[in-house]
Amino acid sequence: MFSKQTIRDVDVKGKKILVRVDFNVPLKDGAVADDTRIQAALPTINALLDGGAAVILCSHLGRPKGVADPAFSLKPVAVYLAGMLGKEVAFAEDCIGPVAEAAAAALQPGGVLVLENTRFHKEEKKNDPAMAEQLASLAEMYVNDAFGSAHRAHASTEGVTHFLPAVGGLLMEKEIQYLGQAIAEPRRPFVTILGGAKISDKIGVINNLLDVADQILIGGGMANTFFKAQGYPVADSLVEEGALETASELLAKGGSKLRLPVDVVIADAFDNDAQTKVMQMAPIEDGWRILDIGPETVAQYGKVISRAGTVVWNGPMGVFEMPVFAKGTFEVAQAIADSDAVSIIGGGDSAAAIKKSGLADKITHISTGGGASLEMLEGKTLPGLAALLDK
Ligand code: AMP
Repeated sequence: MFSKQTIRDVDVKGKKILVRVDFNVPLKDGAVADDTRIQAALPTINALLDGGAAVILCSHLGRPKGVADPAFSLKPVAVYLAGMLGKEVAFAEDCIGPVAEAAAAALQPGGVLVLENTRFHKEEKKNDPAMAEQLASLAEMYVNDAFGSAHRAHASTEGVTHFLPAVGGLLMEKEIQYLGQAIAEPRRPFVTILGGAKISDKIGVINNLLDVADQILIGGGMANTFFKAQGYPVADSLVEEGALETASELLAKGGSKLRLPVDVVIADAFDNDAQTKVMQMAPIEDGWRILDIGPETVAQYGKVISRAGTVVWNGPMGVFEMPVFAKGTFEVAQAIADSDAVSIIGGGDSAAAIKKSGLADKITHISTGGGASLEMLEGKTLPGLAALLDK
């Protein structure tokens, strides 16, 4: 399934290896608030160290807008990583240029160096060849383990592969295998569940899934745009007016494959303390808005999920950040955990919901990359993956 070379196919002994990891972790008060992505990078880092390599790690963090901004420094991540590895981790206050070059030159086999945020240079997102060449000059080989950034052709994910032999890391391989398999050869019925705020993000995904999936269950704010396209007044619900026509086309193409909620939770304010009602889907009264799927929908979706061979879920069923509107999301999470299906959770909010409900152990694979997994579901090639050496 994974057609690219990985770190298992190459000799890393004594070599300096530049590894693009996804250390785009949430920080709180200058410290790592969730280490999922750091944990996920450890197998590759440890395998390289065990193989006698010197490991140079690079990543972006947040959106620093192409300038050095201390709020987005990877220094706290380097400190955290040192604790996890139980060894010293060097840090270079720039990812290219003299500071990075000196730090890389000083690194010995078995050593680990973290480079500062690649997005402190505007050239990163422009996939600037000069930046890519500078990054590449730090090492003798490149490993891409940043599945979460593989859908971006940036200097540190794609450009750099033009200057160094480039292979995949173990996380990259694992992510591609699970999702790739689910899409290419799903155990059927193949059920996908899509939620979240916006339909425009997921039009391409729905289009592609209508060809490969058996059922697409819709929830979250994106359902509202479908409702409006069907002619329901949705009052103060979140709607993407610009996507109404596409929503109609998808409904026509989807037929019974594409399922919408049959009942909804509405509220008279976007507030956890708002007055709420459960109603069968019907015109929404002025002053009210849809903020979650209803119990009948949960029951129906649960039944479909319980019979599934494969389930892929991306996006919450309601405004799950507010406990009053979190039920649909958590009950769908429970239904997935209870099923015998191969279950794959796209990153982001759905992954957070699964973890928060303590169900992570019951899931086949929780992806570290929301955007990247959506692009795979859309049938797109990931540039960071395509650029790696073929097997
Ligand atoms: P996305 O980033 O597109 O996956 O959307 C996630 C966001 O969608 C979460 O912050 C939810 O609060 C929000 N969301 C889910 N359902 C609704 C809804 N019915 N109305 C407004 N926002 C929603």
